[in-house]
Amino acid sequence: MVIDVKKLKISGKYQTDFTFEFTPEENLLLLPDAYIDGPLNVIGTLELHEDDCYVDGTVNCKIVGKCARCVELAEYNFTEEFSVKYVRANPDLEEFEYVYKSGLVDLRQAVSEIISLNQPQIIYCKEECKGLCPICGSNLNEKDCNCKY
Ligand SMILES: [Zn+2]
Ligand SMILES: [Zn+2]
Repeated sequence: MVIDVKKLKISGKYQTDFTFEFTPEENLLLLPDAYIDGPLNVIGTLELHEDDCYVDGTVNCKIVGKCARCVELAEYNFTEEFSVKYVRANPDLEEFEYVYKSGLVDLRQAVSEIISLNQPQIIYCKEECKGLCPICGSNLNEKDCNCKY
């Protein structure tokens, strides 16, 4: 998740494409029992303007959790585009700015925040999930229990 801006400058370029695959930190998701399944993908472009790095990209991953209706396992494909700016470490930094040091832009913090801010609040095994019977608890996707409610 690190882009070497120093190297980029030395090679006389001001733009680079990147693809990263990494394991995100745990406890990023608020949904109980939800987790990020498999690697997380980040694809994008970094552009250098003076000392500022403008990063445009897309985060892709699969989130697995419990269906809010039937409590079976449910999958959610997370895709989110982002644009962030990284500034070189300096004494006048604002608190909200992303910072890079020693010519290395580390996208981990930005990507973690994008997942935190855009994560699903609720997931379903399928859109038309029928949920559980409030009387007998049967999974109504699997059988019709004939309870009267
Ligand atoms: Zn369900
Ligand atoms: Zn029932």
